[in-house]
Amino acid sequence: MAGRIVIDSERCKGCGLCVVVCPNRCISISRQSNSSGYFPATADNTECTGCANCAMICPDAAIRVWRASRIVAADKDDSAASRRMAKEKA
Ligand code: SF4
Ligand code: SF4
Repeated sequence: MAGRIVIDSERCKGCGLCVVVCPNRCISISRQSNSSGYFPATADNTECTGCANCAMICPDAAIRVWRASRIVAADKDDSAASRRMAKEKA
């Protein structure tokens, strides 16, 4: 496993775009709905390469991707947190 993703099931609207773009078929749509009534995407990371196709296509920024233990795509909240940490260090 060269990569790993985490899907925020409460943010996901189940559009299925990430399912289509994953070259390794790591993502499927859950049979269980989230609190908003959407059926969210769910991941099996066994074949994930960390290519980040899924995170880039997601219209709801619901996917975070790690490659070799490094975040390569994050949602807006995480980006803001990273900037805050960088400021605090400076
Ligand atoms: S990072 Fe790439 S391989 Fe991994 S789940 Fe997303 S699209 Fe698939
Ligand atoms: S692209 Fe985003 S919103 Fe659409 S199913 Fe995948 S994680 Fe959910």
